[in-house]
Amino acid sequence: MRNVVDGLIGEVFALCRENRAGELADYIPELAAVDPDSFSLCIATSDGYVYESGDADTTFTIQSISKPLTYGLALADRGLTAVAEKIDVEPSGEPFNEISLDPVTERPRNPMINAGAIAAASLISGDDPAQRFERLRRCYSRYAGRELTLDDAVYRSEARTGHRNRAIGHMLRSFGIISGDPDAAVDMYFRQCAIGVTCRDLSLMAATLANNGVNPVTHQRALAPELVERVLSVMTTCGMYDAAGDWVTQVGLPAKSGVGGGVLAVLPGQIGIAVYSPRLDAHGNSVRGVQACRELSKRLELHSLNVTRPARWATRPIAAFGGAPSRPRRGPADRDSLEKVGRRARIYELHGDLLFAGTETAVREITDQSGELEAVVVDIRRVDDVSGIAGRMLADLHDDLDRQGCQLALVDPEGLLGHTTSELVPAAGGRVFVDLDAAIEWCEDTLLERHCAGDRLPESITLAEHPLLSALTAEQFDGFAHGLEIRTVNRGETIVRRGDRAAGIFLILAGRVSSTLQGSDGAVHRITTLAPGMTFGEMPMLVDDRFLNDVHADSDVRLAVLPPDRFARLTAEAPGLKVALLEGLAAGAYAQMEAAIRSLAPRGRLG
Ligand code: GLU
Repeated sequence: MRNVVDGLIGEVFALCRENRAGELADYIPELAAVDPDSFSLCIATSDGYVYESGDADTTFTIQSISKPLTYGLALADRGLTAVAEKIDVEPSGEPFNEISLDPVTERPRNPMINAGAIAAASLISGDDPAQRFERLRRCYSRYAGRELTLDDAVYRSEARTGHRNRAIGHMLRSFGIISGDPDAAVDMYFRQCAIGVTCRDLSLMAATLANNGVNPVTHQRALAPELVERVLSVMTTCGMYDAAGDWVTQVGLPAKSGVGGGVLAVLPGQIGIAVYSPRLDAHGNSVRGVQACRELSKRLELHSLNVTRPARWATRPIAAFGGAPSRPRRGPADRDSLEKVGRRARIYELHGDLLFAGTETAVREITDQSGELEAVVVDIRRVDDVSGIAGRMLADLHDDLDRQGCQLALVDPEGLLGHTTSELVPAAGGRVFVDLDAAIEWCEDTLLERHCAGDRLPESITLAEHPLLSALTAEQFDGFAHGLEIRTVNRGETIVRRGDRAAGIFLILAGRVSSTLQGSDGAVHRITTLAPGMTFGEMPMLVDDRFLNDVHADSDVRLAVLPPDRFARLTAEAPGLKVALLEGLAAGAYAQMEAAIRSLAPRGRLG
């Protein structure tokens, strides 16, 4: 089914179809035999989807669009240095078929003019001309994702008439750029120009370059990533004959055109564009090809120098919003301390793709603040991709913070930075977390250990100290304690599972438990972590439903459990006790809800 993108491309196609300016190339007789009005525009995405319009399956000869491909193969065969000794990478500003070399270096100025292209063709490895051409044909086929073949008529037509190119070949031989038979090099070049492609093929070839050298449909590699960069650079400065400057300003994409009427353009990392329309302008570029690329670049905002927004980030103090701590149950001393020193820990939330520039601003801000900071949470859950340099910068930031005694908690559930969650970041002073709450809690604990002089809450409490029971009279407490089961659970065990029947009210006396849900992706998501003084299990019991989550013991845990039948009997046997319990549960639920709402409060540059 057509989608909005077909519509956008269709508009450009319709606009350019009206343009009948330009002339067919006729210096190769066979090129003048094509339908001058034939027109196609294809866009291939870097995941291999092709939007087609017009005559997408009409075959034409690749001509000069072969030049970057052969240059890439020569680089792969001979290495950057050996090729650079023969061919420069400077725009020439001269017509493509100029019989000239750079007067200073005595080398062809670049591989996109014929002199450079014939030199590149002479560098393809192989035992004999047939094998060399076969390697080249296979290489082009990997870009296209199908077996391409030679158009014999066009090849013979050019071989009969290509005296100028032969002259270039002999010039190259006389300057020592070609060491073997110049006619063999020129013949190889004629053959490469006569390989037949469709507009669809060209778009996939462009998408292969956009996809760092891997064909997005077949997943076969056509060119090594480091060579893709080199080839695209040369296409950017020299790809559109002597109109390269105009092209870069107006279209802004590495591209190559051919006198057969094809244009191939690449938006690195995103898409490949191809146009076929054989009427050419005075530079030898397809008239509609140039116009279509210009329109697409403008309408789809494809200019590769278009200033995009790098990763964004937001920061807030860890104890903003009046010091809502990470877990509802912090004792008064903890709360007071966090109120005072909470600003010594900050949360940085990074969004988007982490490239150099976005990471630089975040790292600069964190470093500027680090004199006052003792703990930093870097939350990269909303980051899509981390570039190599960004990963390195965050690792270095970690070392810097560590030297200053500042802890780093990284929230990276998908391991984008390559650490395993819950493991120490290599080097002391840091830790990786699956969720923000746990990271905040860890940073709060760091601050509290350093600054809280008051009584910290004990890691375990007695039943009498449990807040749910604090409002009970001595008599009620005794009546309540009587029916309880005290249970210990080992670290790692599951206490209840999603779908289990209500099993009573669980009062946590020691240790930590987490309630978790398994997502449709199979990953386990933590919903909340509960600590001594908190309860769970009351919701399914009160609403007579099953457990919606799994509950696991994060550490060794001690629980007091009030079974459902006992809770039910209290209505008749001890209504006052039941009301007191329900009040306690309601208060606890509201406290948790309050904390949850605070944590959702507006984010951004607060505090
Ligand atoms: N085979 C053609 C030539 O060398 C290719 C020219 C081109 O496409 O720019 O004349």
